[in-house]
Amino acid sequence: MDLIKLANALIPDKDLKDPDEYESIYPARNLSKGAEVTRLAPSPTGFIHLGNLYSALADERAAHTTGGVFYLRIEDTDEKRKVEGAVESVIRSLKYFGIKFDEGAEIDSPLNVYGPYYQRQRAEIYRTYAKRLIAQGLAYPCFCSAEELDEVRTRQTENKETTGYYGKYAKCRNLSEEQIYKNLEEGKPFVIRLKSMGHIENKMTFRDAIKGDITVTENDQDVVILKSDGIPTYHFAHAIDDHFMRTTLVIRGEEWLSSLPIHIELFKVLGFERPRYAHTCSLMKMDGETKRKLSKRKDPELSLDYYRKAGYYPLAVVKYLMTVLNSGFEEWTLKNPGADWRDFKFKVDKMGKSGALFDLEKLNDISKTEISLLSPEECYDFLKSWVDEFGTDADRAHFADREYIIKILNLVMGTGGKKRRKDLERAEQSVRLIDYFFDDTFVPEYSYRFDDETVNAVLNGFAAVYDENDDNQAWFNKVKQVAANCGFAAEMQDYKAHPENYKGSVSDAAEILRIAVTGGPNSPDLCTIMKILGGVRAVGRLNAANRK
Ligand code: GLU
Repeated sequence: MDLIKLANALIPDKDLKDPDEYESIYPARNLSKGAEVTRLAPSPTGFIHLGNLYSALADERAAHTTGGVFYLRIEDTDEKRKVEGAVESVIRSLKYFGIKFDEGAEIDSPLNVYGPYYQRQRAEIYRTYAKRLIAQGLAYPCFCSAEELDEVRTRQTENKETTGYYGKYAKCRNLSEEQIYKNLEEGKPFVIRLKSMGHIENKMTFRDAIKGDITVTENDQDVVILKSDGIPTYHFAHAIDDHFMRTTLVIRGEEWLSSLPIHIELFKVLGFERPRYAHTCSLMKMDGETKRKLSKRKDPELSLDYYRKAGYYPLAVVKYLMTVLNSGFEEWTLKNPGADWRDFKFKVDKMGKSGALFDLEKLNDISKTEISLLSPEECYDFLKSWVDEFGTDADRAHFADREYIIKILNLVMGTGGKKRRKDLERAEQSVRLIDYFFDDTFVPEYSYRFDDETVNAVLNGFAAVYDENDDNQAWFNKVKQVAANCGFAAEMQDYKAHPENYKGSVSDAAEILRIAVTGGPNSPDLCTIMKILGGVRAVGRLNAANRK
């Protein structure tokens, strides 16, 4: 068969370059030895998930700890799944977590010489190489319809055979020249398939940068490389793009492991040197007793938007993921308190080999710690940016009074030399936690442990003597006095010695006041809260809390 004629008939594009020209258009990168070129290659579906951030973090670290390059490529070959604004959303989301690209789609960089970075704009390169493979007899047209393929698949499933287009099932592999041209004349749609030379019985050892040596079987599937609309499949685009963008290390989810044999063969037939691969393990969670993959449908925490909306401190999410990525990270942070997390020596080969357990509780703990390390001013800025984007109108009005919020934050964060409090976990929770400092969001549910008469006696007794100018000591003396007047023990040790003589201790009496002022039995220092509220509002709350 005249393969050159066939290649021209199948891909008649006039002005395609000689394939080898691309080698000089996209020359090897001028980087020092050991520098890794990594990429994030999302499909623009609009859904950015924790797995993307997890991979991006590994990519970013691998590139930036070796003096390499981290770029963004958009895999938009599937038009149906494309969502408007998805690219901006990837960039914005990752930026929120402090992850920046050096080059790529929508990145303003002088390095952008390996583009275009949208696969749809690279059609010419894919067609050039598909044409060469046809001319070399390494690819061929397939005219099978979707129905025919479905039928074969059903038959294979029934016979418990491997499904796909291979061996005796690769019907179009041996079409005669005559049949091919007849089909073309009839205008039958076709795809281009790889003519696989592999054999399923041949096994080889493959070194994965994370999983180590693994055994892979040769590919024997005549996979589609160009679809009928001329757009490449993931497999073909991956090989061409990662070669010409000069990627040295492909970090991607382990769901791609099963396609690895295809990729190995594609690199071989294209005559390209293969990048190294690092297949990351899936993020899992405990569901009762069983471990399962995080799922888009069941787990809102899979979406990165979840973390922004809930107001997680971005660095906390990054640090948490670092603990999942590299087991030594946590130990390192303990040994190097205050050090910049980027100083940690990240190693791809230290990444977990199997199912990383995602633990929201642990993330919450890290988030509490990170927020507790902020100054109240920094914390205000962080909360304010959340409020601006996700808060209610009331929140925005509250946050307009910076000075008042900072007073509150000084209290709830426990500044002033004492051990910091860790009450603030994330922005949404923090903003709700301080709602009681504002009259319009103070909605107490008074739930006292004493009878109405006692409650009223404590509230009225304290309202009568409260003075906002009292210091902590004077304030507490008054609480004791009122407690004693109402039948509570003013001193703890008296109560402990003879509980039967009292209604309760001074702290029980103080709890009545606390519930009245803050709406609940737990709060930071009540004396300071009353001062922040001011005498009029504080006493107003004591009066309003009276049992009728
Ligand atoms: N577009 C592929 C995905 O979103 C990328 C896989 C890869 O990193 O190679 O799953």
